Amino acid sequence: MFSKILVANRGEIALRVIRAAREMGIQTVAVHSTADSDAMHVRMADESVCIGPPSSTQSYLSIPAIIAACEITGAEAIHPGYGFLSENANFVQVIEDHGLTFIGPTAEHIRVMGDKITAKDTMKKLGVPCVPGSDGGVTSLEEAKRTGEEIGYPVIIKATAGGGGKGMKVAQTAADMEKAFQTARAEGKSNFGNDEVYIEKYLTTPRHIEIQVFGDGKGNAVHLGERDCSLQRRHQKVFEEAPGPSITAEERARIGKTCADAVANINYIGAGTIEFLYENGEFYFIEMNTRLQVEHPVTEAIFGVDLVREQIRVAEGLPMSFTQDDLQINGHAIEVRINAEKLPNFAPCPGKITQYHAPGGLGVRMDSALYDGYSIPPFYDSLIGKLIVHGRDRPEALARLGRALGELIVDGVDTTVPLFHALLAEEDIQSGGYNIHWLEHWLETNLGDG
Ligand code: ADP
Repeated sequence: MFSKILVANRGEIALRVIRAAREMGIQTVAVHSTADSDAMHVRMADESVCIGPPSSTQSYLSIPAIIAACEITGAEAIHPGYGFLSENANFVQVIEDHGLTFIGPTAEHIRVMGDKITAKDTMKKLGVPCVPGSDGGVTSLEEAKRTGEEIGYPVIIKATAGGGGKGMKVAQTAADMEKAFQTARAEGKSNFGNDEVYIEKYLTTPRHIEIQVFGDGKGNAVHLGERDCSLQRRHQKVFEEAPGPSITAEERARIGKTCADAVANINYIGAGTIEFLYENGEFYFIEMNTRLQVEHPVTEAIFGVDLVREQIRVAEGLPMSFTQDDLQINGHAIEVRINAEKLPNFAPCPGKITQYHAPGGLGVRMDSALYDGYSIPPFYDSLIGKLIVHGRDRPEALARLGRALGELIVDGVDTTVPLFHALLAEEDIQSGGYNIHWLEHWLETNLGDG
């Protein structure tokens, strides 16, 4: 059993890990930049170490600083949260080389899935259905144009190293290809240091459906159903729910088993998410995330499990605490991402919180590192909280979301809360009849955001 773990992250996800560890009787070490000396994760952990200046490249992304913090404090394992170093295979390698444990998959799993072309190839071989597209990388404009003709427009050009919605460009017709191809390559190069791209059929009305999987690293794996994350702005999720309003029990069982079998086959360890686009009853793999997702709480709510606790258990070599048969869905859960951003353009809005009141009551979970008087630093992601509601069914969850949003007070900065009030008034949100393009259209029509 670990006696102490280090959390290589900040904000709500650092608190999430600290909470799970505390319930397991494990001591925690927080790391922080100088901009985060007063942050909640520093206050809540048993110990803390300052690892550098505000810039994340010199602090939360500094592998030597994090390893040194482990050595100083005697932490035996590192939980990466999401973002930052969570999908960095080199980080995992360095951790292992220092005789420490990474709470997550192996460096090899991260490497394979981190390159989208290799990931797609691997999944295809494991029997997972994929979006039709180029066979591997596309290196020249001529080849890109040929591929476009073959699979039929519209197509999407994607950087193989892409993530967070960056490095993806749509070509509606052959005339758009040159610009889309060059831009996707340039974005891949500047954001991820890799200009390799591939091409996929651009689906026009899909939903984003992702399957939560969990493996023990010894060839056993389960799935925890799906999350529908179709409400997106610029390919970034803003509202997620489980189960997916459009998915039947049969579809869930079938795609869930395909995913669980695929990860069992590669001896996957820990939490992972296999993302699909879903259109006309078909699933098309787009990518796998080898970490805990921001939206994991909706899955925890409907299955009654603690995914972080489970991650820590399997990292210690313990078996999973549930089997596939134990995992039964109970009710419906929704998460909304509360960002410090100013509408209508979602401009980051850091600043001082003059008043904070979290909602409560039956079926309400607020994961946030905010407190009265806290100053949101301008250096990091604008996510400041996640409000998760759980109800017996979807209508109850929606009603509860409206009620909880009404109780929430975040004064001093602009937030995305008004967006969710407005969305709840929409018939398509109430009925669950939306796809990945719905929110962009809605924002353009209602806020002039485009
Ligand atoms: P990232 O790694 O940047 O998150 P993904 O491959 O997961 O990129 O895609 C993110 C989002 O982009 C998807 O949820 C979807 O909205 C859109 N997208 C990706 N591939 C396609 C496609 N082939 N057709 C239509 N939309 C797509």
